[in-house]
Amino acid sequence: MLAPRKPLQPLTEKPEASKRRLFQPLGFSLRLNLWYTAFFVFGAFLLFALAYILLIRELRESDHEIVRAKLDACRAWYTQGGTASIGDHFETESEWEKESTFLEVVNANQRLLFFKSPRRDQNVLSRRVEDRGVHDTDWLSVPSAEQHMVWTIARTQLPDGSIMEVGRTTEDRDELLRHFRTIFLFAILPMVAFGFCGGAFLTYRALGPIRNIIGAVRSIIQTGDMRARVKGPRTEDEIDELVTLFNRMLERNEALIGAMRDSLDNVAHDLRTPLTRLQGGAELALQHEDPGQIKEALADAVEEAERLNAMLRTIMDISEVQAGALKLDLETFALEPVVASLIELYDDVAQDKSITVTATIDPAGQVTADRNRLQLLLSNLLDNALKYTPDGGRVKIGARFDPDAIRITVEDSGIGIAEEDLPRIWERLYRGDKSRSQRGSGLGLSLVKAFVEAHGGRVTAQSGAEGGSVFTVTLPRP
Ligand code: ADP
Repeated sequence: MLAPRKPLQPLTEKPEASKRRLFQPLGFSLRLNLWYTAFFVFGAFLLFALAYILLIRELRESDHEIVRAKLDACRAWYTQGGTASIGDHFETESEWEKESTFLEVVNANQRLLFFKSPRRDQNVLSRRVEDRGVHDTDWLSVPSAEQHMVWTIARTQLPDGSIMEVGRTTEDRDELLRHFRTIFLFAILPMVAFGFCGGAFLTYRALGPIRNIIGAVRSIIQTGDMRARVKGPRTEDEIDELVTLFNRMLERNEALIGAMRDSLDNVAHDLRTPLTRLQGGAELALQHEDPGQIKEALADAVEEAERLNAMLRTIMDISEVQAGALKLDLETFALEPVVASLIELYDDVAQDKSITVTATIDPAGQVTADRNRLQLLLSNLLDNALKYTPDGGRVKIGARFDPDAIRITVEDSGIGIAEEDLPRIWERLYRGDKSRSQRGSGLGLSLVKAFVEAHGGRVTAQSGAEGGSVFTVTLPRP
């Protein structure tokens, strides 16, 4: 009976550490949100500034067109009939009555021939005297004496040498721009609020998988249950990849911890019988009076302890492979010399039992594997073949080098394996009924299977009714 599995001990955290963990994501999301809001508002502000500059340019252009059109009209009237003609037209054109436009004509001697302006702006009137000589200037900007306005003035020289000027205040334009600025000022608060809410929503959504990861980790820490996984939408982006990798890591950790627990349970279980035997031997030694018998019982106990030691090492090796923790030292080498040296190693055993061991392996055939592990697994198969083959039998080792895999066979003419034993011979400590008379621990084939599978290969056994067994190791080519 295996001991029931205990849950992992929950980790105890320092209160400050857990508090910090609790608030860290909040702080981060708030910071992220504030950054987002700042960028959003800054972007909106930039857009507004751009629109504002374009509007100013557009309005100035439109003012210039109006003034230029008026200047052209006045020039035509003047050419037709002098200032009198301008006066006539001026009276009839109602738009000239608008306060924002003025017209003046001065002759070459700087005498004022015509002046019409609904607004008596001191700046415009006094400017006339000083600036009169500048004839080649098309456009002038003159600050108004009132209301921080500016006059945009177009000037032209008439055929008789007189100067004509048409001016217009920026009053309308300023009014429009003021409206625009007011709208922006009113819009900025909702804009910040919108940016903040949008940022909060986006941050909340973006950090969803992180919250799930935190939840999964916290659940593992608190309950010790390694089955917790991070839930996440299948969005196939970086976050999705993070969640997938994180879950894969949890799966791997769970498998490793599970395998470690199982091996620990199994090792404890497997060692119970030999340990009991060892204890029995030692107790027997204590009961004996005769020193010769005591010595014999102690020698048995030492032998049992050695076997126990070897078993423990093999069990640990198998567990390591099964937990996926074994690191293979892969290299490509010729198989034939490895098999030849093995056969030489077992030559005495083979000779003792008059067993003929032959190997038919292409000397050029190469294999990519962990050399030591391959030697060990082949020696286990050869050892079994010799062990379970009666005197005078034969053992054949062969190899087929296919393009996709290498198939190594160890064939014997021995006692064979009962059909019901065939699926079980790979289990740890399993020993077939027919083989009880032979030495052994029942671990050899488990180790062979673990090593072959660590190489990504597989091992199979076949046995006929009339005896003899064939073990085939299939190793994939890299
Ligand atoms: P062990 O040989 O120490 O008993 P193994 O794990 O190597 O343990 O083998 C498990 C069982 O498989 C053996 O007890 C035996 O019954 C059977 N077996 C293995 N190899 C052979 C073989 N070549 N011929 C017959 N039976 C075999």
